Amino acid sequence: MTNSTLTEAPPPPETAASSPGRRIDWVNTLFLAAAHTLAIAGVLYLVFVRCNPWTLALGALWLLFCGLSITGGYHRYFAHAAYRAHWTVRLFYALFGAASVQNSALRWASDHRRHHRFTDQEEDPYNIRRGFWWAHVGWIFFKAPEWSDFSNVQDLERDPILRFQHRHYVPLALIVGLLVPSLLGLLWGDVPGTILVVAFLRLVIQYHATFAVNSLAHMLGSQPFASNDSARDHYLTALVTFGEGYHNFHHRFPGDYRNGYAPHHYDPTKWWIWALSRVGLTSNLLKTPRETIVKARRAAAA
Ligand SMILES: [Zn+2]
Ligand SMILES: [Zn+2]
Repeated sequence: MTNSTLTEAPPPPETAASSPGRRIDWVNTLFLAAAHTLAIAGVLYLVFVRCNPWTLALGALWLLFCGLSITGGYHRYFAHAAYRAHWTVRLFYALFGAASVQNSALRWASDHRRHHRFTDQEEDPYNIRRGFWWAHVGWIFFKAPEWSDFSNVQDLERDPILRFQHRHYVPLALIVGLLVPSLLGLLWGDVPGTILVVAFLRLVIQYHATFAVNSLAHMLGSQPFASNDSARDHYLTALVTFGEGYHNFHHRFPGDYRNGYAPHHYDPTKWWIWALSRVGLTSNLLKTPRETIVKARRAAAA
C-alpha cells in the first residue's frame, strides 16, 4: 500500500497529564524554554546587532558535526549497530552528541530501541498515537516512566567511551556545546554571537530536526514498505534531518546503515558513513540486499 498524504495522528487515547506515573521533568522543561528564548535572541542579535561571517560559519560547522553525531552516531551506530567505527569516530560522536543536549548516547539509544520495539504503543517513548506535539516534544517534558531502564543497551555499556560520556554528560555538553564555541568566538571578538548563535540557535535548529523524525516522519509521506506501523518516507523530512526521513524503509530495515536506500535519495548521513569507510574509519557497513528491498516493495504494493 502506498499513501503519500499528510495523515492526521490518531486521537490520543489519554492525555499525558492523566497518564499514570508521569510527572513533569522541570529540568528538561526549563532548559528547553531557556534554549528557545536564547535562540530567538540569537536571531535578533544576527539581524539587529551583528552578523559576523565567522560566527555563522562556526554555527554551520557545529550544526553539521552535532547533527551527524546524532544521525550517524547515536542513531545508526549506537542504537542500531549498522556499521563498525574506529574509536576516534566513536569519541567524536560522544563529544558532539553531548553538545547536542539530547541525553547520553546510552539513554538515547535505550529510548530509541524501545521506540522500534514498541512503535505506536504505550511503551513507545514518542508514541505518535498521542498526537503530533507529544511525539515532537511533549514527551520530553515528562519524567520517563518506570520501564525506562538500560537493560536494552547492555552491549553499549561495554564501551568505555560511552560509559565515560554517560557519567560526564553535563560537563561534556557544556564544554563542547558552549565553552569551545565561546573561546573560538574570542578569536574574532564575537563571544556573545557564538553563545547565542552557535550554542543556542544551532541547538534549537538541531532539536527540531531530531524531533521531526519522531513526529513528521510518522505522519507525512508514503509507506512503500508495509512495516505495520506509522513510519513514513518523505524527502522533505529527509531534507531537514540529514537523511533520516526515509523512515518507513528504516523501520522495515533498521539494521541498514542507509535510510535513503536508493543512490539518488538525499541521505548525507549515509554519504558521511561511506566516506569514512573509504579512509578506514568505518567498516562492515550493513546493507539490505537489493532483491530483499524489491521483494518487500512488491509485497507491500500487492
Ligand atoms: Zn520511528
Ligand atoms: Zn531507528
